[in-house]
Amino acid sequence: MLRTVAAFDRIGEENAFAVLARATELASQGRDIINLGIGQPDFRTPDHIVEAAVKALRDGHHGYTPSVGIKPLREAVAADLHKRFKVNVSPDEVMIMPGGKPTMFMSILMFGEPGADILYPDPGFPIYRSMIEFTGANPIPVPVREENGFAFSAEETLKLITPRTRLLILNSPANPTGGVTPKPEVDKLVAGLARHPDVCVMSDEIYDHMVYDGEQHVCLLTYPSIRDRLILLNGWSKTYAMTGWRLGYAIWPGKLYDYARKLAVNLHSCVNAPAQYAGIAALTGPQGPAENMVAEFDRRRKVVVEGLNKLPGVSCATPKGAFYAFPNIKRTGWKAKALASTLLEETGVAVVGGPDFGILGEGYVRVSYANSTENILKALERMRSFLASRKAA
Ligand code: PLP
Repeated sequence: MLRTVAAFDRIGEENAFAVLARATELASQGRDIINLGIGQPDFRTPDHIVEAAVKALRDGHHGYTPSVGIKPLREAVAADLHKRFKVNVSPDEVMIMPGGKPTMFMSILMFGEPGADILYPDPGFPIYRSMIEFTGANPIPVPVREENGFAFSAEETLKLITPRTRLLILNSPANPTGGVTPKPEVDKLVAGLARHPDVCVMSDEIYDHMVYDGEQHVCLLTYPSIRDRLILLNGWSKTYAMTGWRLGYAIWPGKLYDYARKLAVNLHSCVNAPAQYAGIAALTGPQGPAENMVAEFDRRRKVVVEGLNKLPGVSCATPKGAFYAFPNIKRTGWKAKALASTLLEETGVAVVGGPDFGILGEGYVRVSYANSTENILKALERMRSFLASRKAA
C-alpha cells in the first residue's frame, strides 16, 4: 500500500471540467449539445497575439526565461496597471505565472496550515476551498448573497475575521455569480481591514475587463493602506481569450515575492517563452478585439437574463460582470445539481449546479454566456419546454 499524505484525501476539483467532459462525451455520441457550462470565452485569441508567439518561436525564444518572467512583459503589466488604474507598480513586483490559478494555489499555500482560518467567497471559484482544505486550514465561507446583487458585504466579511484569520480571498467581478462589488462596499472593507493588520488579502481580478452598465472595475491596488499585504491575481485567460496558453500574473508584496519566486523555481521553472511574448503583444497592441468581445458578452448578457426570467420557476438577477448568470431555480422544485445533470442528459444543455461553487450555491445554476446568441436562444427554448413539462425529480 502506498503511503501518500492525507492532504490528497482533502483536495477538491472543479466540477465545470466534469460537466465539460460529459458534454463532450455526449456530443461524440452524436447528441446535439449546447454548452453553457463552460468558463472560457468562445473566441479565438486575436491574430496579432498569435502572430507574436509564432514570431517569438521563429526568433529562437526556445529556452528557459527568468522564473519571474521576462522583463519586457513585467514592464508591460506595470504600464497597463498604471494606464488603467493610475497605480504605480514596479516591474519587480510583477511575477508572470502559468495562468491565474497558480497564484491562488501559491498564496493559499503560503498562509494555510492547521489552526489558520482563510476566508473565501461562497458561492465562489471552487479551487479556493479545495486548496484551503488541502493545506489543513479552516475554510471560512463569506456569504455572497443574491439580495446583495451577489456583491460581498464588507460588514459580514469583517465580522468573520478572528485572530486566527491569515488570508481573505476576494473576487470581483465574480465567478460563478457575475456579481460586482460596488466601490463604497470595497472602501468600507478596506477601512475595516485597518483593524486587522495581520490579514493578507488575495484579490482575484481575472474578470476585471468584463464589467457592464457603466460600472468601473475597482482594483484593490488603488488602496495604499493595504498595498503591503495585497496579492493581486490576474492574467490573460479571459480578457484576451487565452485560457489554453496558461499565462497569468501576480503582484506579490514584500517577502511573498521571493517565496513565490522560489515556489516557481521548484515547480515550473518559468512560463513558456512564446506565451510571454504573446502576452506583451496583448497588452501593448490593439485593444479592439478584446473590447469587441466584451461588447458581445454584454449583448448576450441581456438575451440570457431576459430569457431566463421567462422560464417557469426561474428568476435571474442581472449580473454586472464576467460572463455568467446565476439564476435562482428554487421555485422549480428541483435541486440544482439534479436539474443540471437532467438538463444535460435529456435536453443536451450543459449548465453547472450552484452547489459546485459552495454550500450557498444550492437553489442556483451557473449559466455561462460564452456561446453564440443563436445557441443561447436554442438552449433557453429547450430549458423552457423541459421545465414546463417535467416534474422535479
Ligand atoms: N479565478 C477565477 C475567478 C476564475 O473563474 C478562473 C477561471 O475560470 C481563474 C481564476 C483561473 O484562470 P486561469 O485559467 O488563468 O488559471
